[in-house]
Amino acid sequence: MAIAISMLLRGRRPLHWLFAAFATDIACWYAAQSLSQIAPSPIWIRATGVLTILLPLIAILLFQSVLPFERDDRSSRLRRLGAVLAVPMLVLVLSPYDQTPVGLGLTYFYVVGLLVASLVSLELRGRRNPSRAVRDRTRFLVLVSTLAVTFTLGDFLSFLGVFLPPIGAVLSIIFLFVLSESLTRPRLADLYEMAGRLMVFTALAFCLAGVFYLFVALIGRFSTIYLNAVLVAIVFLLLFEPLQTFVESRIHQFYFRERHAIEVHVEKLKARLAHVLEVDEMVQALLEGMNQLPRLTAAGIYLRDQDASGFERVGGIGIVPARLDPLTSAPIVERLAVDASINLEEVARDADKNDAPIVAAAQQLGSLERSVMLAVRGSDDDLVGIIAIADERVRDAFSPEEVTLFETVASQIGVAIANSRVYTRMKERDRLAALGAMAAGLAHEVKNPLGSIKGAAQLLEEILEGGDGGKNEEATAREFAGIILEEVNRLDRVVGTFLDYARPNVGDPVPIDINAAVRRTLRILSSQQTDNVDLVLELGETIPRASIDPEKFRQVLMNLVRNAIQAIDGAGRVTVATSHRKRGVTVRGDSAAISADGAARDAGWVEVSVRDTGPGISALVLKYLFIPFFTTKDRGTGLGLALSQSIIQNAGGTIEVHTPPGAGATFTVVLPAEPEIESPRVETNVPAA
Ligand code: ADP
Repeated sequence: MAIAISMLLRGRRPLHWLFAAFATDIACWYAAQSLSQIAPSPIWIRATGVLTILLPLIAILLFQSVLPFERDDRSSRLRRLGAVLAVPMLVLVLSPYDQTPVGLGLTYFYVVGLLVASLVSLELRGRRNPSRAVRDRTRFLVLVSTLAVTFTLGDFLSFLGVFLPPIGAVLSIIFLFVLSESLTRPRLADLYEMAGRLMVFTALAFCLAGVFYLFVALIGRFSTIYLNAVLVAIVFLLLFEPLQTFVESRIHQFYFRERHAIEVHVEKLKARLAHVLEVDEMVQALLEGMNQLPRLTAAGIYLRDQDASGFERVGGIGIVPARLDPLTSAPIVERLAVDASINLEEVARDADKNDAPIVAAAQQLGSLERSVMLAVRGSDDDLVGIIAIADERVRDAFSPEEVTLFETVASQIGVAIANSRVYTRMKERDRLAALGAMAAGLAHEVKNPLGSIKGAAQLLEEILEGGDGGKNEEATAREFAGIILEEVNRLDRVVGTFLDYARPNVGDPVPIDINAAVRRTLRILSSQQTDNVDLVLELGETIPRASIDPEKFRQVLMNLVRNAIQAIDGAGRVTVATSHRKRGVTVRGDSAAISADGAARDAGWVEVSVRDTGPGISALVLKYLFIPFFTTKDRGTGLGLALSQSIIQNAGGTIEVHTPPGAGATFTVVLPAEPEIESPRVETNVPAA
């Protein structure tokens, strides 16, 4: 019972309850056994019978909660088997035949069989686990459980009329204790340490018992009392440690409730800061975290200016200075360059000569005059920021332990800032590279037609100057004028498309039936198609609608299918497929579609994919695919994909590209699905033409 209670003192999760039930079952079994000898009555025999039948059932559930069954696992049948067998067994132990050799034999086999099966099943599940740590731990658990079960069953043998020396009870208690410890410790290293401690415990228990025995021997009464002494000692030692931790943590919570709250908040805040990449986001997280602290009336977050002259406020609580200017705050900044924090209140109280400048500087800080100032250090250990926190209501608002706690937050902020700088630099580099590629592309696109226009205009000029206006010359002049017009039109088109890209308008988004739109577009395309291209449609059955301008959607699909047709170069297959990506099902690792909208949506996503059997896309081309004017084609504009992506992004979606080696390319348009309304059932695998 002591082991059961000590387990519940540690926690109240199902594992704890199940173990407590397991230990209680065994304890009650011993109690019923003893009572049956003290006050013989059939009721005790019935009680031991019922407890015996329940034991393996609890064991199965307990070992299951250690390492849960996978679905469709054969082991989960064990649970059902146990439950089914328990019914006739309960009937048996409550019947008059329970004490017959057959009844006792059946009961024993039922108990041993199920316990062994549950241990074997735990061992098998452990072996299948991919983690080595879990495998080792399970093996250890199985070993300890086997010993606990063996010693416990040794005493159960009395059921069959076999009486072992009472030392079995002691060992079963010890191994139950080891099991309870093994269950609550996740790491094997802890388990070995625990096994060591257990040996010390047992030795100590025997020492206590020895002393006890000595006294009894001197007084002169021998019996099994020394064994009971061992038991008392073990109970005492077992309960001692968890009880101590439990009481200590309650006292801590009671007397230091605020401190406890701060600890909890700080831990939460640190966990959140670990995932922050932008400075704004970090400031936001920090302010939210600080707002939840019970003990703060003013706080300021200051970051060093670009020109490193002073510190600018980026966030604050209460009325705090907007800036720590270099002149007045110099003494504080100097001190923070060496120390992790300054408690201005403490400094003002025990100020000596050296501290006078800091006290003077603090007086300029208004509500932060008695604050704790924390240094935020960047990657080179230089001071990149200062966090000031104050509680103006009380004196000595923060204990040294709390200040240490805040210092850990400040150092985490330093890491977050360093990360965000690296991230910003990387983003800027990518942006500049994209801009450079785009500018080069645009220049190229404009230069080509300009060259043609210039040539044609020069020739036209020659004709106008030197010619005699004959029929031939008029025809040539017309031809040049035609070239000029054509090239101007091309320029117009390029600039127009570029403007479309640069200032994308969302058009007129309406929920459209994607399957119908795909079929209509492909009909137009295949009517223009002269090559022998195999155009295949694979339309999903119930595709929700998606909100997008129908004309723009058609433009995107046309671009993708045209690119695919060009990629297969006259021979091969282009497949256009639609499907519904349900919420929470992240089909591919990158899940760009999910991030486009910030969160997974209830209705999921509509996917339209265009797959070709062409040469695929090289890693280099893949990198520049969506950059305007990037093209590998002689007469390409390089605007198709850039524009398509801009259209789809404006509709809240994204375009994903997959190009497995040697298997062509697949462009997938992923659009947020409109809730509920679904398009009617449609035929699949119908050629578009
Ligand atoms: P354009 O078709 O005018 O070149 P795009 O923006 O549509 O402009 O395409 C940019 C580049 O992407 C193409 O030049 C081509 O190299 C590559 N690309 C696009 N689709 C495919 C595809 N299905 N297979 C292989 N490469 C492709």
